Amino acid sequence: DAMLAKFARPGMCNPADTDSPWTAQDATDDARLQAAAARDTRTPAQRNHDALLGFLRPELGGPAKRGSHRGVPVAAIMTMSIADVERAAGVATLATGGTVPISEALELAQQSKRFLMVFDHAGMPLHVGRESRTATKAQRLALIATERGCTRPNCSAPASRAQVHHLTEWSKGGKTDIENLTLACDSCHAQVHDGPGGWKTVKLGPDTAFPGRTAWIAPPHIDPTGTPQVNHRHHPGELMALTLSRIQDRNRQARERHKRWLATHRATPATP
Ligand SMILES: [Zn+2]
Repeated sequence: DAMLAKFARPGMCNPADTDSPWTAQDATDDARLQAAAARDTRTPAQRNHDALLGFLRPELGGPAKRGSHRGVPVAAIMTMSIADVERAAGVATLATGGTVPISEALELAQQSKRFLMVFDHAGMPLHVGRESRTATKAQRLALIATERGCTRPNCSAPASRAQVHHLTEWSKGGKTDIENLTLACDSCHAQVHDGPGGWKTVKLGPDTAFPGRTAWIAPPHIDPTGTPQVNHRHHPGELMALTLSRIQDRNRQARERHKRWLATHRATPATP
């Protein structure tokens, strides 16, 4: 999955395009890759096929030449909670979408580089300010771990298919700080603009149901109320919590109705 995320993305390894990049080295030329992606008319299945063909070509080289994809190494990126690691149960989530049992994830992690993410305690360069427009590797990894994928409501694109988006645009003075960064897939990112029909992105404040999360505001023709919405697709636990709280609400209302019914019927004196 990690290899295909890089080598099967639009523009890469296209045999019908003489200027399509095939190697990790060629893919570092962003302008060339973007131009090739614009000419690419292949289906995802065809792109996967051509990428696999690319792995078999000697000039692609060995695993040492996998390079990077959207600023992080081409490798399986797994996120697991310390609670799950301690009880050796549960699942690790993958940057490419999907899950791996904790037992297998720990086995794989034995030979890997590990990144410890300590949230709310900045131990890593998560604040870059106006020094660089491009997000750092630590910022990308932090977003992969927390957001897990595109943040637009109901979008299922995993982190490997998302780019780092500035909530306040760089062109409008936005900083490359973790609070101003979020994940958006290429097609959702293209829908954020100031023109008619454009979406807006905001960070939710401390008094909201999901503080610190990115919310998207749909254009008036989709949502006239302009209510900011978060994406629950990559956070199944939240959907479970929402469903449970709805069930508990319903049960509480039923209990209260029953109590009121009992109270009114007990109040009525029984006929002899
Ligand atoms: Zn998306």
